Amino acid sequence: MTTAPGIHSRMPLLFLGHGNPMNAIAENIFVNGFRNIAKELPKPRAVLCISAHWETNGTFVTATDKPRTIHDFSGFPEALYNIQYPADGCPELAEKITHLASGTEIRRDYSWGLDHGTWTVLKHIYPDADVPVVQLSLDRSKGPQYHYDLAKHLAPLRDEGILIAGSGNIVHNLSMIAWNRLDEDEYGYDWAIQAGNEIRQFIQNDDHQALINYKSHGKPFMLAVPTPEHYLPMLYIIALKNSDEKIYFFNDKPTSGSLDMTSFKIRIHA
Ligand code: ZN
Repeated sequence: MTTAPGIHSRMPLLFLGHGNPMNAIAENIFVNGFRNIAKELPKPRAVLCISAHWETNGTFVTATDKPRTIHDFSGFPEALYNIQYPADGCPELAEKITHLASGTEIRRDYSWGLDHGTWTVLKHIYPDADVPVVQLSLDRSKGPQYHYDLAKHLAPLRDEGILIAGSGNIVHNLSMIAWNRLDEDEYGYDWAIQAGNEIRQFIQNDDHQALINYKSHGKPFMLAVPTPEHYLPMLYIIALKNSDEKIYFFNDKPTSGSLDMTSFKIRIHA
């Protein structure tokens, strides 16, 4: 990778709709979407991932130099449990992150590793696992405004070669999955399609307050975001967007009835 000095060395941002853990080993339009976006990405010094699947009391950052691959799901084929994603950690980056947020204590963690929100998608983007990865947890006791504000403190990392990625789903209701339509790449209930369209519109228009206040938008949103953990990683990424940057959507389709795989990249140029 060659980068000019100054503004063009600012790393892009990514939000990744991860969906079904089977995407780690599946072949479908979404996996192709991840592979395609990978071709456009510079190789970062490290990835900082905010995953839906690491909720804690307080905020933590993984600080081990060899994070384990966590298979945090049940009932899937053995082939999925056999996958390892042996990316290194980056203790120096973790240390730096603990000092970034004034007013918020970010503590180092030595027990977590890379959960499936992180490795099932990074496996397609950096398949050689040759980029160090650090995860930041979601403080489950805090509301959306807190997460949005905390994210802004991470901005300096973008100028130091760190790719910040959120991994979740903008529409995610596991209790309403259409189990009989799993073999179709693209299928969404009406409310899931409506909420997905509105959320994308808010993202496109930089209407961040509407995204923070997602609970006030009626029934489709209540069904689309019944719990916050898959939605909040998206807030971290839009919070870091500068006014001179553009949003490029990919994988922007509903699937399995009650999920939406919308993913996006934010950067100055395409
Ligand atoms: Zn998930």
